Amino acid sequence: MRTLDELTRPNIRRLKPYSSARDEYKGKTASVFLDANENPYNQPYNRYPDPLQGEVKQALSAVKGVDPDSIFLGNGSDEAIDLLFRAFCEPACDNVVAIDPTYGMYEVCAAINNVEYRKVPLDDAFRFRVDDMLRKADAQTKLMFLCSPNNPTGNSLDRAEMERLLDAFDGLVVVDEAYIDFSSGPSLLGQLKERPNLVILQTFSKAWGCAGIRLGIACAHPEVIAILNKIKYPYNVNLLTQREALHMLQQPLQVQQWVDVLLKERERLMEAFAGLPCCLQVYPTDANFFLAKVTDANGIYARLVEQGIIVRNRSHITLCDNCLRITVGTSEENDALLEALSHEAV
Ligand code: PMP
Repeated sequence: MRTLDELTRPNIRRLKPYSSARDEYKGKTASVFLDANENPYNQPYNRYPDPLQGEVKQALSAVKGVDPDSIFLGNGSDEAIDLLFRAFCEPACDNVVAIDPTYGMYEVCAAINNVEYRKVPLDDAFRFRVDDMLRKADAQTKLMFLCSPNNPTGNSLDRAEMERLLDAFDGLVVVDEAYIDFSSGPSLLGQLKERPNLVILQTFSKAWGCAGIRLGIACAHPEVIAILNKIKYPYNVNLLTQREALHMLQQPLQVQQWVDVLLKERERLMEAFAGLPCCLQVYPTDANFFLAKVTDANGIYARLVEQGIIVRNRSHITLCDNCLRITVGTSEENDALLEALSHEAV
């Protein structure tokens, strides 16, 4: 691996970060806070939140088995994705390599940061090819993006192949595990300690049922995490979000129950969907959604919208011709979808 100094943009390496009032005084014993120009009234919202989210990270550390100093928390994983570009990719100079199709924000963040985005197509079974990714890379490639289970295809990427990429690439490999809690395969979190070039993204938005609070997780070597913390906005995760996350982290059983129910529903829905006259193929999935090839994705999408049922039309995406992406809902919601589609002609 190139050293972290070699991978980091020179201006970020040199950056002296902003030091907030809550960074400078971290103790718990004080009772008079006259340091941050806050209003003394309107408890608890008058106070700035913990800039490094210590309590949330402690609780998360216990649930995930990852040291707190290997955890970054942000305003959704989208914040972590953007910060990775800003920390490591010099605009108009560096590039990143990613599988295609995959989650759209990697490409959008690359464009916002004026970083070249190199796509490597999956094969027709949605498998990725390590050698193709390595061939696309050069000395200016700082990051590679994998997503497993992948959005929008739903499949998990081959673990041995991911490890081979981590061994062979000398930059950072970002593995987005937003949907890992729905997967039959294990997370790569267990490999963090021995792999300094691994960055794993997870989120409270999916299995944890908290898309509304905007809380994303990046796990990596403490030195990588320190760089993300150095460039984030000082109070990037607000007080309400930190409170709700702590509340949710006290109920991992509830989350597991949701996952169990959704996995059962996924099986039922996919089986029924495959039997619909308008369905040509349902692709295997490890996520809380699945991709299906249908007779007329644009027409079916529009007719579902008329009935107040919204799915994701992915038919313009690489390898997803005439495909809809269906999120697994409650059994009532899934029945409503099946009923509406049963009237679709072949
Ligand atoms: N990664 C993947 C693969 C996703 O599909 C999504 C959301 N659809 C995200 C990340 C974004 O997660 P967050 O809500 O934490 O920003």
